[in-house]
Amino acid sequence: MEKIVFATNNAHKLEEVRTMLGDRYEVLSLADIGCHDDIPETADTFEGNALCKARWVKERYGYDCFADDSGIEADALGGAPGVHSARFAGVHGDDDANNVLLLAKLEGAECRTGRFRCVIVLLHGDDKPAVFEGTVEGEIMTGLSGNGGFGYDPLFRPDGWNCSFADAPAAEKHAISHRGKAVAKLAQYLQTINSSKTL
Ligand code: IMP
Repeated sequence: MEKIVFATNNAHKLEEVRTMLGDRYEVLSLADIGCHDDIPETADTFEGNALCKARWVKERYGYDCFADDSGIEADALGGAPGVHSARFAGVHGDDDANNVLLLAKLEGAECRTGRFRCVIVLLHGDDKPAVFEGTVEGEIMTGLSGNGGFGYDPLFRPDGWNCSFADAPAAEKHAISHRGKAVAKLAQYLQTINSSKTL
């Protein structure tokens, strides 16, 4: 099976992406390739940060790889937390504190619309970076619901659903999620470049 590096150590993202690509690719994490670096994410866009992570791996470790950057955007907050989603409340990856802060910032807000956004950048051979984006629209609920997923999942109700992402089985989330959509585009692209290699 062909190997591909996903420049993350986020266990939740890795599991999601392995579920989506796992029948065709062995998806290696940063830990799997011996990378324990704290990769700087200094850009102010999802694409810029994904490119930072993918370049770091390609340039220092020599692997073809892809990286994602993702987050939640609340319209009432002008798109915040956006690229700052992971450390919205100050500590990277403190999901509970991030959810509490988002609820507090939206308290009393009439507009609760928003979306999850995911941008994946693939660095393959000497090709130009390939970029894939996925979004899922919905609303930020007034309280937490559900134990599944991660991050802001207990606060996000996708349009057309009557429950949060955290209330749903993982496969139902993947089928419509921002990451699911971006990974589907990546998978399609990888299939195209692999089949052109064998022509
Ligand atoms: P990243 O690792 O810099 O891409 O940070 C992404 C952050 O956005 C995560 O720490 C979560 O807080 C949030 N996030 C991204 N995707 C999801 C998702 O699918 N569900 C819930 N939260 C997410």
